[in-house]
Amino acid sequence: MEVNVQEVICPNCGKRLRGIVDEHGGTKLHCRNCGVNIYSKRKSSRCYVLEVTQPNTTQYIR
Ligand SMILES: [Zn+2]
Repeated sequence: MEVNVQEVICPNCGKRLRGIVDEHGGTKLHCRNCGVNIYSKRKSSRCYVLEVTQPNTTQYIR
């Protein structure tokens, strides 16, 4: 089985994160530095979508 690792810079705090790409081409990441959950998905070779969720209600996305 081939494992693809994607590297994403946290849009909230700028920390470098790494996640394993799943079978749908998406990557789920959790930033330990600021606590956000990031879902990154490549739509095509020229476009990818980054979804950022702040699960902690006392903190906000900058
Ligand atoms: Zn972060």
